[in-house]
Amino acid sequence: MATIGALLADAVQRLRASGSDTPRLDAELLLARAVGTDRIGIIAHPDVPVGQDAAAAFAQDLARREAGEPVAYIRGLKEFHGIALATDARALIPRPETEALVDAGELQIVGRLARGAAAAAGSRVRVADVGTGSGAVAIALAVALRRRRILEAVELVATDASPDAVALARENAAAHALLDSISIVEADLLPASLGRMDVILANLPYVPSAVVAVLGGSARFEPHLALDGGADGLALVRRLLAGLPATLAPGGVALLEIGADQGVAAPLAAAAAVPGWPTVVTADIAGLPRVLQVDRPAS
Ligand code: GLN
Repeated sequence: MATIGALLADAVQRLRASGSDTPRLDAELLLARAVGTDRIGIIAHPDVPVGQDAAAAFAQDLARREAGEPVAYIRGLKEFHGIALATDARALIPRPETEALVDAGELQIVGRLARGAAAAAGSRVRVADVGTGSGAVAIALAVALRRRRILEAVELVATDASPDAVALARENAAAHALLDSISIVEADLLPASLGRMDVILANLPYVPSAVVAVLGGSARFEPHLALDGGADGLALVRRLLAGLPATLAPGGVALLEIGADQGVAAPLAAAAAVPGWPTVVTADIAGLPRVLQVDRPAS
């Protein structure tokens, strides 16, 4: 019977040869899944023999990974902002850089509650996650707010144009006991009929069409719709910006994830759509432009 260590060494070599950028991490995660442990268990017990069923399951997963399928789709889950989310081909895999959007949203909500803006108006802070996909941003935000015991003070809506994404987001919300706290609706961007929001968060597709066509890595397996942002990548961003006068409350804020090379084009698009509204671009953990913030003046 092969040991954990032997299977791991062989898998790392094969995944490196197949072109994975992270062969060791991939192999550890997949072997842990097959054996029924976590990465620590794999690293700590190289001499433990692996049973036949587990070895066979691992061989299958390894073949899928060698063919380029993302680890998150093979495992069916991805860690994001400290929580686990179900992932499959129905939606984009949550990316680490998107955690910055969750943090920025949380900060805005906490600030608004502290200033008592919503309480004074006798209502909750209204928050929308537009193009929620797997539900990652809305759910991670709700988990963070629940931990702070301020989830009740927030009204959270998540939208997606894809019925598949909506279904996955609902499954994820249910898994985190948030189905009653997030209203997940199938819709094109943010319909004005949902009422004005105080905080709008959006990780829309922002990759230029021509780039999507030649993307490697996980993008080959992800829904085209979740990545394709039109000719210059900003088609949907522009459409959301154009809708802000109807969807964002006075004094509200919109936070949009953007591509690292859109740090100039995105604020220009905002200036064209909502002239005079202050905009600022902030960086992600890698120091790259990542979040476009657009503030609606209070009056
Ligand atoms: N950051 C993702 C990528 O480069 C794109 C995500 C998106 O379009 N929202 O693959």
